[in-house]
Amino acid sequence: MSQYKMWIGGNWVDATSGKTYPVYNPATEAEIAQIPLGDKADVDKAVEAARKAYPVWSRKPQSERSQLVLKLAALLRENAKEIARIDTLEHGTVAKNALFYANDTPGWLEWAAYGARSLMGHTITVSPDTLVYLQREPVGVVALITPWNLPLLMIYQKLGPALSLGNTVVIKPPSINSLTAHKLAEIVEKVGFPAGTVNVITGPGSTVGEALASHRGVDMVAFTGSSETGKAIMSLASRTVKRLQLELGGKNPAIILDDADVTNAAGAMARQQCSNSGQICGAPGRFYVHEKVYDEFLEKFIAAMKAMVPGDPNDVNTTMGPLVSATHRDRVESYIESGIDEGAKLVFGGKRPTTPPMNKGYYVTPAVFTGVTQKMKIAREEIFGPVACIMEKFNSDEQVIELANDNVYGLTSWVWTKDMARGMRFANLIQAGTVGLGQGRGGGPEFPWGGYKESGIGKEGSLYGITEFTNLKRVQVDLVAPKK
Ligand code: NDP
Repeated sequence: MSQYKMWIGGNWVDATSGKTYPVYNPATEAEIAQIPLGDKADVDKAVEAARKAYPVWSRKPQSERSQLVLKLAALLRENAKEIARIDTLEHGTVAKNALFYANDTPGWLEWAAYGARSLMGHTITVSPDTLVYLQREPVGVVALITPWNLPLLMIYQKLGPALSLGNTVVIKPPSINSLTAHKLAEIVEKVGFPAGTVNVITGPGSTVGEALASHRGVDMVAFTGSSETGKAIMSLASRTVKRLQLELGGKNPAIILDDADVTNAAGAMARQQCSNSGQICGAPGRFYVHEKVYDEFLEKFIAAMKAMVPGDPNDVNTTMGPLVSATHRDRVESYIESGIDEGAKLVFGGKRPTTPPMNKGYYVTPAVFTGVTQKMKIAREEIFGPVACIMEKFNSDEQVIELANDNVYGLTSWVWTKDMARGMRFANLIQAGTVGLGQGRGGGPEFPWGGYKESGIGKEGSLYGITEFTNLKRVQVDLVAPKK
């Protein structure tokens, strides 16, 4: 078993308190590491290191900063096999997917490194005697607070633009699975950033996270996690009016219209529902199926859910690993119980497997509910597991648009139809940051991602995402001395 340290100010350090806490392999329940239990004292040290590094890092030429971020991306790719191994170990990510992510996600750093070199300013014409121009500057010290469900990607999405644009950072990874962040810190050390440019500090959100969100020395919080935590961070950050980028929860509608390609819709949506064991903010949360295709969709969807292969994430045949922790497994199961109690019908799955190797580990089999109504808890709240909620049948476009929008979240959505004009009208009316007409392929750093309503503030990806990590300054120049 390994003992880990935090990376602060260019040094490997224990928590000031000397305390540690255990992390577990979710597929076997075995303890795999002891992690420093940081607290407010460690936050103070990390923020101080980042503040000290800020003038050094932010004043480097853009080309130099981008080169170092590209070097980081290259080293992460060189270490992809090891990073993937850790991802599977601590998160239960299916091994082949983990290797894909480890090779693919450094692209977010590359995108940011090049994007930062492509930003241009503006001039505003006032008169022949005055020049006004706008320039972008780094925000300062940015706290990156990230969730456990995609431990690598969630950091890279923020780290790339923050660093490339001259900010210094304090990363607070999730407590459940911070080993990939420790590996990242090891690689950061090899890149040769000025000491304190990147700091990685571990410990509970309730102490370390809150101390970062309220710290006077932190200028911006870039956060991905639940809407509840996002609201708490907003409140803490308001004390010093920090810049916020919040990527929060979702309860995403998937609408299957009467002219949909039902076979494709059922297969694609079942895969999305079970991707990362359903622990994806952008997974479908509510299925609205037109009455004319309801029976066909249900039959094909259940068949596709049955075809999922939960199991040991290192087995090549496995398509779905365990849930991340015992606590989260219990939470998903409590939603299943609540669905049954409120009168929804569990027509498939939703059980704890008892056969080896899944008699150990935090597994729940894919589940399908039917007869779910808008008021039920399973229809309103994010389950964050492989549990599909098939809502009551609908029969008109206007009715289903209203139902789809009747939720506090607005992250993503799908509309399945062969009539693109009809689909684009839905896209106009659905309140969500993303609408997929069909499967909605097209993720990655070149596209903006972010939520409406309680799903968040700001965007990740694209030039919109890059500029979140800048301040826009107006400079006014007298070209001619003012008349006395
Ligand atoms: P949480 O909100 O519980 O935690 C996210 C991070 O915040 C963790 O590092 C956590 O620390 C920390 N944290 C917890 N409480 C506080 C606090 N009071 N102040 C500051 N920081 C705190 O989310 P989960 O980790 O459970 O992740 C799942 C959630 O993330 C889902 O709601 C999902 O929808 C959302 N998500 C959204 C995405 C998007 O792009 N919109 C993408 C991925 C996930 P600790 O681990 O120590 O508790």
